[in-house]
Amino acid sequence: MPQKPDTTEIAIVGAGPAGVAAAVTAARAGASVTVLDEYARPGGQYYKQPAHADGGPTYPNSLASNIEQGRELLEGLSHPGIDLQCNTLVWNISADELVLDLCGPAGARALQAQCIILCAGATERVMPFPGWTLPGVIMAGASQLMLKAHGILPGKRFLLAGTGPLLQITAIQLLEAGAQIAALVELRSRTEFLRSAASLWRYRDKLGQGFANLQKLLQARVPIKFGHTIARALGENEVSGAVIMRVDGDGRPIPGSETTLKVDTICLNYGFTPATELPRIAGCEQYFDQDYATYATSTNDNLETSITGILAAGETRGMGGAEVAVIEGQLAGSVAAQQLGFSPPIDQNELFDKRLQARAVAATLGKMFQLKPGLCALVTDDVPVCRCEEVSAGEVRTAIRNGVVQLNQLKPWTRAGMGSCQGRICGDILRQIVASETGLPLQDIQPFTARAPVKPVPLEVVGGPVADTGTLTWEDHVGGYGVART
Ligand SMILES: Cc1cc2nc3c(=O)[nH]c(=O)nc-3n(C[C@H](O)[C@H](O)[C@H](O)COP(=O)(O)OP(=O)(O)OC[C@H]3O[C@@H](n4cnc5c(N)ncnc54)[C@H](O)[C@@H]3O)c2cc1C
Repeated sequence: MPQKPDTTEIAIVGAGPAGVAAAVTAARAGASVTVLDEYARPGGQYYKQPAHADGGPTYPNSLASNIEQGRELLEGLSHPGIDLQCNTLVWNISADELVLDLCGPAGARALQAQCIILCAGATERVMPFPGWTLPGVIMAGASQLMLKAHGILPGKRFLLAGTGPLLQITAIQLLEAGAQIAALVELRSRTEFLRSAASLWRYRDKLGQGFANLQKLLQARVPIKFGHTIARALGENEVSGAVIMRVDGDGRPIPGSETTLKVDTICLNYGFTPATELPRIAGCEQYFDQDYATYATSTNDNLETSITGILAAGETRGMGGAEVAVIEGQLAGSVAAQQLGFSPPIDQNELFDKRLQARAVAATLGKMFQLKPGLCALVTDDVPVCRCEEVSAGEVRTAIRNGVVQLNQLKPWTRAGMGSCQGRICGDILRQIVASETGLPLQDIQPFTARAPVKPVPLEVVGGPVADTGTLTWEDHVGGYGVART
């Protein structure tokens, strides 16, 4: 007989800036709140805390101040109305009953809420190139995770490549931790960069931060290559170097412009895509965010999704940065508490105004650092595009030549998107390739259908207790289904 779910008034998925701000606001209004996060400690990506509560290593300046700022926000979680459950993955959501399926230290459980706030953050975006699956090629966020959570420098001599402000921030953090930076490769040309910086003129603090970061890198003599891309990672079993190339206005590499760099680690970031798996499983409407060229979760001004009882805040409802996440978290926490009959001591009109302003900055930044279609030229047919299922760009192009125009059609043709990342990494790559091969606009190519479990969980979590199979062999298993292994 299925166990009765635990209950709470407000369940919040994600303990990043949005989730924490929502929890603290709702708890201060009098609601009882359960915050769930799959990571060991609250803070999310921006305020990621050391994995061990007892402090860990001594951090360089920029990391230490970021960790400290996060601690101030996280102190609010000690409110008696908040039950924080870390190491707990929310792997499914049922919109009818507002029930979340959890996998955590206490095993498999269900939690029923009167209101759910989804604050699941975002995923880093990547564009493949020959050699991108070699050990030593990582995402910029992964290098931050190793530094912030564990005090580990993932290499000695780095190349940072892609587009956007995270590359500069990461380069500074790596430098302060003792890394050598061979180059920072930014897709935008210097002219494009300066022209778009002018569009930030109204937001002088952001502009100032950006130029201060650039200045730090120039003072440290880091070569910044505008209008370039990484074209190839070199090495047999691990990265030993990289080839970078100049690009034209569309991002297409210019033949003859190759430069080889000796590096042992390559950190990539091409922006982000919102984590929308849970809202999509729940049936929440999605919209195409033109500024970031990605799908995100639609809400009204009160951050209510199209499904009654489910709100979304922070990057799940559109890329925006940590400041937007905190404001929207406060707003969502206060709206949810109000829905349950509490009177949050917070001025919602002030939050609406702050949010409009912060979202306007985010939209400008999004437009500044969009991907360029010409990068698809680097994804030659032999390059793997779905790492989990080892599907190559050539297989995807063959499917497209045979009429495939949507990601869901690619699945049965190629198995792309059917592996353990559930399309989180390859979905965006495949959308770029389909758009480039068919000429369809990106927004006409829908995301993969999201399915539970959103991330891998033990079999007994989804299917109940697993019987002890003793010494059964593979043949015993498949024999039961009449399946022959080929
Ligand atoms: C890898 C990465 C690195 C970044 N680095 C920077 C940076 O250096 N500087 C900067 O300004 N911005 C950075 N950003 C952007 C920044 O993360 C955001 O602006 C901000 O943290 C967004 O806050 P959020 O609360 O919306 O999401 P997040 O901070 O991402 O928090 C989401 C939380 O939800 C949890 N979660 C997600 N899905 C589930 C689930 N199914 N079950 C349980 N828990 C779940 C995650 O573990 C995470 O803790 C980064 C983003 C990423 C993805």
